[in-house]
Amino acid sequence: MNHIPMRMCVACRKMYPQNELIRFVRDNETGEVKIDEGKKLFGRGAYICKNADCVKKAEKKKGIERHFKCAVPNELYRQAEELV
Ligand SMILES: [Zn+2]
Repeated sequence: MNHIPMRMCVACRKMYPQNELIRFVRDNETGEVKIDEGKKLFGRGAYICKNADCVKKAEKKKGIERHFKCAVPNELYRQAEELV
């Protein structure tokens, strides 16, 4: 049996299997936060479940900003909305 890692959505704070979440990663060198679509980027991750309400909620509550303690462009949330 494969173990699927569980991660928490920054908006609803529920745990989901990693593949049901959108992963955000902060680049250690540039400090830039990106969406990790290929699940290949290294670095600390933040997650939002694939639910349009959670993306909106995370944007409103600045969930990703608070997780990484840095600014995040609104565009990143628009990109996330396209993935839900
Ligand atoms: Zn959620």
